[in-house]
Order: sequence, then structure tokens, then C-alpha cells
Amino acid sequence: MPRIALIPGDGIGVEVVREARRVLEAVVEGAALPLELTEWDLGAERYLRDGVTITEEEFRALSEDHDAVLLGALGDPRVPGNEHAKDILLGMRFRLDLYVNYRPCVLLDPELCPLRREVGELSIEIFRENTEGAYAGLGGSFKTGTPGEVAIEEDLNTRLGVERIIRAAFEHARAKGRGRVTLVDKANVQRFAGGLYRRVFNEVGEDYPEVARDRMYVDAMAMDLVRRPERYEVLVANNLFGDIVSDLAAVVTGGLGLAPSANVHPGRFALFEPVHGSAPDIAGQGIANPVGAIRCVSLLLNHFGYPEEAAKVEEAVRASIRERVTTPDLGGSAGTEDVGRWITERVAQKRGAVSQPPTGA
Ligand code: ATP
Repeated sequence: MPRIALIPGDGIGVEVVREARRVLEAVVEGAALPLELTEWDLGAERYLRDGVTITEEEFRALSEDHDAVLLGALGDPRVPGNEHAKDILLGMRFRLDLYVNYRPCVLLDPELCPLRREVGELSIEIFRENTEGAYAGLGGSFKTGTPGEVAIEEDLNTRLGVERIIRAAFEHARAKGRGRVTLVDKANVQRFAGGLYRRVFNEVGEDYPEVARDRMYVDAMAMDLVRRPERYEVLVANNLFGDIVSDLAAVVTGGLGLAPSANVHPGRFALFEPVHGSAPDIAGQGIANPVGAIRCVSLLLNHFGYPEEAAKVEEAVRASIRERVTTPDLGGSAGTEDVGRWITERVAQKRGAVSQPPTGA
């Protein structure tokens, strides 16, 4: 039986995971799914309380006795440098080698697109390399704080790392019947890393003749995601460019509060988290949008082979937006819990196709 660890974490992470859990429990109960949930007290509170980020024993229990993690957010202004986040989140990412950062950006409702013109369906799925590139943290500073200061930041790319993220993107495109994978790079300036990505992209792409492929420089992609986002299906990018284009794609499809993500080592382990952070500015007010976290539940259900239940969650989320049961970031006046409960009821089919008048408009 798959075991899932819930780590609410810090700030609004606690609030949004509470709602995601509510939805997940309704699905598990409704479809009698064999998923087991446990909740973990890891985060800034615990660190400030007893000076521990995560013990080796806990790390082992999390990674060996569980199949996936659903994380809210880690980050707290009371912890300078967010040491705890480094140990917990980056620890899992690197020690479990979660090399795929999958960020689907789907326009759930045409109203959510901030572009002035009307766009059609948007579903841009981003595969961002998650263990090397800028994350390698290689570099240094010399003569720091003097007028002659020198700063060097390396971008590390291995053939293994490049190949496996590109293959993950093509595998996904094949499995989901998507027509095209686009490589995002800056190969005209970053000749070595860009060259490696381009060569491997062509080689791996040959194994997927049914999937078209093209390449875009990251600057041109930034423009195009605003100009004609409909054109894109699956994007693959290194760590840094993947981060930038996924925030852009997230905002074009409705904003940070809606976007889910998965950190995956295929076949081994997965960590799901909303794209947003702990948002200390709105924490504790009950107004955080829980949809990013709730859509993580949908990714999680897909991951464990329950596409029907996953689709039900997505449908319920779409319905909540259509019915204007939304938090203030989307212009509504519903609270975090209102949205969570509404979606839960919809998923549990207690709510009919025609629902109450909008509560959040
Ligand atoms: P991190 O460095 O952890 O990513 P951050 O401060 O850069 O954190 P977020 O914590 O994601 O970014 O927050 C950015 C802003 O977006 C916040 O100030 C908050 O107002 C808004 N925001 C983020 N997530 C949500 C959400 N779920 N609902 C409503 N507003 C949100």
C-alpha cells in the first residue's frame, strides 16, 4: 500500500495542506483507495522549538517507509537563511535524486488568463532539470566586499543529467499523446552547456518519432509565452531556465496560487509541492489559495495510477473557479477553508452539477 507523508511545513503551507488533505481523504474514502497518510511535524516551528531540522532517523523513515511526500512550503523569516528548508527540502531533492521537476501550467478557466486577447486551451507542461545546473551551487567570491570583488557562478551539466530529463519529457509526451517537445536554452551564448543539451535532445528525440521537436532560446520563449502560449505543449529546460519559464507560464495560466509541481525520480520516489512558497505576508489570515496544493493531490493520484480520481479533483477545482468560489488573489472573497470544503464536497459528489450562488465573487 503506497504510503504518503504530509509535511505542512511553514506559513501558508500549513493552511493549504490542511485543505489538500481534506480533498485527498475524501477521494481515498470515496473510491476506497489503498493510500495511507501520515503527517510530519517538520518545519520552522519545530526547528525553533528544539533546534532540529530533520534527524537522520526521520530522513530514513521518510524516504524508506514512504513512497511520496506532499509538502506545503518551507521558509520562515524567523530562521535566517532558512537552514531547515535546506536540510529538509534540498535534502530530499538531492539525496533521493529527484531529478524531474514537473510543472504543469493549465488554464483552468479562460477568465484567469491575464492576457488581453482571448486565448484557447492552454496546457504547458514543463520539465525542469532538478539536481544540477545552477543548483550545483558551484562558484565563489573573491575580494568580497571590496571594489575589486569577483563573483563566479558555475552552471554544471552532466550528460547523464541532461539525458534523463530530456527522456522524461519525451516519455511523458508519448504517454499523454502530446505532439511536440520544445527545448528551451541559450545555446547561442552558452555554447558548451547549450551544445550538450541540443545534441542530446536530437539523439533522444530520435527514439520518439511520433513527437515533433523544436528549440527556442529562453529570451524568445519568454516573449512567445506572452505572445502565443497556445503554441506550446511540453517544454524541457535546464534548472535555471526551467525555473524562469515555469513562473511565466504559471502566471499566464492564472498565477502562483494555482500551480502544482512534482519532484520525481521516476519509479522510485515523488515529492509534490505547490509552486508558491510560505508567503509570510498572508500567513495565518486564512486567505491563501489552496488550489496549488489541491492540484498536487491530482498529480499524486495520477502518479499512483488513479487517473479517474485525479480528473475528478481537477474538475472540482475548475468548477470552484467557474462558480467564483475563489480566494482574494483571484478576485474572490472566499477563505482557504471555504475553497477546500467546496472542492471536497464536489469531489465527494455531495454537490450537484448546479451549485450555490457564488460565495466568493
Ligand atoms: P519562496 O522564496 O519560498 O518561493 P516567495 O516569498 O518568493 O517565497 P511566495 O511565498 O510564493 O514567494 O509568495 C509570493 C507572493 O505571492 C506572496 O507575497 C503572496 O502574496 C502571493 N502568494 C503566494 N502563494 C499564494 C497563495 N497560495 N495564495 C495567495 N497568494 C499567494
